[in-house]
This record gives sequence, structure tokens and C-alpha cells, in this order.
Amino acid sequence: MADVKDLSAYKGVWVFAEQREGKIMPVVIELLGEGRKLADAVGCELCAVLLGDKVEGLTDELFAYGADKVYLADDPELKDYRTDAYSITIGKAIEEYKPEIVLLGATHIGRDLGPCLAVNCNTGLTADCTKLEIDPTDKKIQQTRPAFGGNLMATIICPDHRPQMSTVRPGVMEKAQYQEGRKGEVVKLNVSFKEGEIRTKVLEIVKSLKETVSLTDAKIIVSGGMGLGKPEGFDLLKQLADKLGGVVAASRAAVDAGWIDHSYQVGQTGTTVKPKVYFACGISGAIQHVAGMQDSELIVAINTNESAPIFEIADVGIVGDLYKVIPAIIEELDKVEA
Ligand code: FAD
Repeated sequence: MADVKDLSAYKGVWVFAEQREGKIMPVVIELLGEGRKLADAVGCELCAVLLGDKVEGLTDELFAYGADKVYLADDPELKDYRTDAYSITIGKAIEEYKPEIVLLGATHIGRDLGPCLAVNCNTGLTADCTKLEIDPTDKKIQQTRPAFGGNLMATIICPDHRPQMSTVRPGVMEKAQYQEGRKGEVVKLNVSFKEGEIRTKVLEIVKSLKETVSLTDAKIIVSGGMGLGKPEGFDLLKQLADKLGGVVAASRAAVDAGWIDHSYQVGQTGTTVKPKVYFACGISGAIQHVAGMQDSELIVAINTNESAPIFEIADVGIVGDLYKVIPAIIEELDKVEA
């Protein structure tokens, strides 16, 4: 490539502070936690990039979660996410301030914005990372993500271009600690667009009426797979989840069967979860499922097949029919409550 950059000019770790309707997305707090580790390892500052309309008030939250500096673009044109407006604004800021590392959440917005930014900045992007580490010798980031259908983990580096960019799956990294009253510097970004540069207009935002589920924040998850045998099986799982103050989730096979919405799917192509307790009910334990739940604190597996792979990672394994085991657990819980 003709465009050779002076890599030593690039300094600092940036986190895209994705906000929706004036609320910082939870993945941003995770990225600030991870960004802090990377910034300390390299010996540079941690910065957040915040775009929106009337969002200046959110800067305090970003400082409290560890940002040393917030690059702020506050403008009516940035009220709702639009690929052109956001990628042009951040692209110009990257050109001017030259961060060494840029992290984005692998949300719908991050997955759209990341590749556009990478193209604008003529650099690489590693999508959907599950682990980030600094190589102690050359201080480059090693970006790890599942590859080949989740059968192996690939570690990717970006040796010749800057910034090094990654999107990171929500729910994978530890959240940053909140430090009340922590302060930092706000740097205002210039927001201007040429005629016709923004090719889309948001006419209306229509929210889906389907039930939304927050698996990433759930402490207890009762998850079901093909072993349920029928969609109604989720009603039984819901009863157990309600008793424990948890939520229901599913394997991809159950989602593909049309038994439950995709938003409930755990795994490589679903959500990554880290609850205190994960019940795997009638789930075989395919590698792609395990990739999304193996970091749960306690894994309870219920399966009729004692050789099911899920038992290899379960802390508590119950060999049995879930339609007998779960009602028995509910009955015991009822006794405790009575
Ligand atoms: P099965 O593998 O059919 O297992 C059903 C289990 O239920 C069996 O172990 C059986 O013994 C048990 N059982 C049967 N009856 C009962 C009973 N009455 N009581 C108790 N146990 C019973 N999968 C995901 O989950 N998430 C992903 O994100 C994901 N991404 C993928 C990405 C790619 C690229 C590919 C190729 C696959 C992906 N998969 C994913 C699919 C994955 O490979 C498996 O096919 C899927 O996880 C299997 O779902 P399951 O465990 O529900 O079904």
C-alpha cells in the first residue's frame, strides 16, 4: 500500500461511547474497563468518543468509569445514529488526534460503524473479539476471536496500519469500576458536513414490539434446547426462571426451530453471557453454544444423555428428563418459600 504511516505518531486508547436516547450502552462500561488495562500496559491515556445531540451531560459518567479525556461531538445532526454522519465525524477526529487503538462494542451500531471507520482510516478491523491482550515486546494488541465456525480461536494483529481497531462482544469483558467525582478533560470536535455527504435521513424510529430480553445483565439464566421437544417447554423454564428471579434463554437449534425469538439465543452467533447460575436444559453442549456461556459462575446441566458434552463443563450435572427434574426443583423451591 502506498500510504505508509508514521506509526509512532499514534497514541492513546479510544472507546466509542455508544449512547442511545441519551443512555450510555452497557458495553461501553466494559470497553472502558478493558481499555484501562490496555492503556496502562502501553502507558497512554484512555479516551472516550461521544457523539449525539445534547449529550454533554454524559461526559461525567464516562470520566467516572475511567476515561481521562472525552472527545465530544454534540450536534443535532448526530442525534440518531447514521453511518455517514458518525463515520465522517469520528474519522476526522482519528485523523487529527491519531489514537493507537480504537474499541467499539459489537452491537448493531458498532458492527456497522467499525468497518466504515476502518475503510475511512485505511486500517484493519478485527470484528467480534472475545479477548484483547498487549504483546509485551512490541506493545501491539493481540485480538482474539472465534474462527472457522467457532472450532478454533484466532489471534489477529494489525502490524502496519493505525489505529488498531476492534469490535468487542457485549458481556465478555469486566465492567470498569465507577469512581464518583472522577474528572477529566472534554475536547470538543468540530462537526461539519459537505452538501450530500450524509446519504440517509431518519424519518421515524419504530421500536419492535417483541419482548426484549437482557441476557447480558441477567444473574440467573434458565436456557433450553432441542431436548425441550416442543416450544411449550419454554413455559416450564419460565416458571423456574421466575422463581429464581432469572430469565429464559435458548440454544440456536431451538431458535432455528422457531420455538423462541433470536434475541434469546446464547452462543457464538447469539449473546455471550456470564451469569452467576446458568441452567442448560436439554442442550447438548455444542462448541458454538459453550462459547457463549462457559464463563458462567455455576453451570447446571440437565440432560438425558450422560455422554452429552455439556457435562464436561457443568459444575452440577443431572442426568434425567428435564420434564421430571425441573418440576422437582420448582417443588423444592416452593417448600423453601412456604
Ligand atoms: P441438540 O444438539 O439436538 O441437543 C439436544 C439435547 O437435549 C441432547 O443432548 C439430548 O440428549 C437432550 N435431551 C433430549 N431430550 C431431553 C429431555 N427430555 N430432557 C433432558 N435432555 C434431553 N448453537 C448455539 O446454541 N448458539 C450459537 O450461537 C450457535 N452458533 C453457531 C454458529 C455456527 C457457525 C454453527 C455451524 C453452529 C452454531 N450453533 C450454535 C449450533 C450448534 O452447533 C448446535 O447445533 C446447537 O447448539 C444444538 O442445540 P441443542 O443443544 O439445543 O440441540
